[in-house]
Amino acid sequence: MSNNRTREGLSYLDPASPEPWASFLEQIDCVTPHLGSLSRWTETLKRPKRMIIVDVPIIRDDGTIVHYEGYRVQHTLSRGPGKGGVRFHPSVTLNEVMALAGWMTIKNAALNLPFGGAKGGIRLDPRQHSEGELQRITRRYTSELGGFIGPARDIPAPDVGTNEQTMAWMMDTYSMNNGSTATGVVTGKPVALGGSLGRHEATARGVFIAAQQAGRRRGVPVERARVAVQGFGNVGGTAARLFEGSGARIVALQDHSATLVDEAGINVMAASQHVARTGQLSGFLPHAEAPTENFWLVPTEFLVPAALEGQLLPERAKRLKTKIVVEGANGPTTPAADDVLNERGILVVPDVLANAGGVTVSYFEWVQDFSSFFWTEDEINARLESIMVGAFDSIWSVADERKVSLRTAAFIIACQRVLSAREQRGLYP
Ligand code: GLU
Repeated sequence: MSNNRTREGLSYLDPASPEPWASFLEQIDCVTPHLGSLSRWTETLKRPKRMIIVDVPIIRDDGTIVHYEGYRVQHTLSRGPGKGGVRFHPSVTLNEVMALAGWMTIKNAALNLPFGGAKGGIRLDPRQHSEGELQRITRRYTSELGGFIGPARDIPAPDVGTNEQTMAWMMDTYSMNNGSTATGVVTGKPVALGGSLGRHEATARGVFIAAQQAGRRRGVPVERARVAVQGFGNVGGTAARLFEGSGARIVALQDHSATLVDEAGINVMAASQHVARTGQLSGFLPHAEAPTENFWLVPTEFLVPAALEGQLLPERAKRLKTKIVVEGANGPTTPAADDVLNERGILVVPDVLANAGGVTVSYFEWVQDFSSFFWTEDEINARLESIMVGAFDSIWSVADERKVSLRTAAFIIACQRVLSAREQRGLYP
């Protein structure tokens, strides 16, 4: 299930929250002084390589015609084809998709996956549409993207508001238009269509591995920790279950409908069953429902923002009572809030590392599709763990050597890879 948080009520539109692309640019400025002679290429990262805006018209079930705006941004393609999800959400904008594509460039390079960065989205509320309407929207969007996507060009995947079914329709539409079945055009597909075992849980599994690694270094064992999770979709819901399974206590949960706080621990399986039935957390534990802002005040060892960007604002960062923030969402912490957390000594495991498990298993899926040879779930989970732990170690070492945050360290490693590729390829013509 995907995470359909609305921004209203979560202060996304708070004037203190910068536009996502502005946050990305600020992060690039922050890393530039660390790049030596490669810094002459950083302008490359401030200009997405290619941005496509498409009209997506459909006839609704009641016969009316509606139009939606769809986007695909290919931020960089220097290290390989574009890679990144497609978001269906009422607040999708070009600015947001640009930032999400930029973060994919950094994430893929930080993990050393052979991809550039891309992202797509359509501004609509998937909950207001029937299955048939969603299928028509997805197919028309895919068709409009035409040859800009493809197994060697740009490979979409699920994100907020999209899922395996969306990917099956994208794969089929692309294949029908091209006259042959191309499983490698998208990842996060159903297993019956060339999807990978373990992909569905991969992002959350990566979040959990990142939390374990951070906890080990800070002397905060996950097994005895109190954890707060914002977002109860595929990432937040599954991460909460993995934390609980390890012995941790989930003391706060928040989705678009409710904030739940319970020092004794919230039963994640029961919460998931409630959400599967009703579509929201509200009504699950009426006695534990608290005001929205209380979510940020709960004493915890780990805080996992796994909803949308721009949630962790400076005012919230000042009051946070946690030791480690593990970013399950993309861009949940604004640059100003990041500074507050760094000053307060709260460790932040950045999105480009913490939530990279999803795209890592997407990479495995793409490789399996190319070779038409499929791996076992154990193999996938073992390889995921080894890539996540390896990336965590290298980013930790750079942070330690250069006395910078884990985010800046991840950006240093990623930008070195992307900009060296850019320099070695040279400017065309
Ligand atoms: N949407 C996910 C992300 O933000 C996965 C992208 C992918 O698998 O390509 O990382």
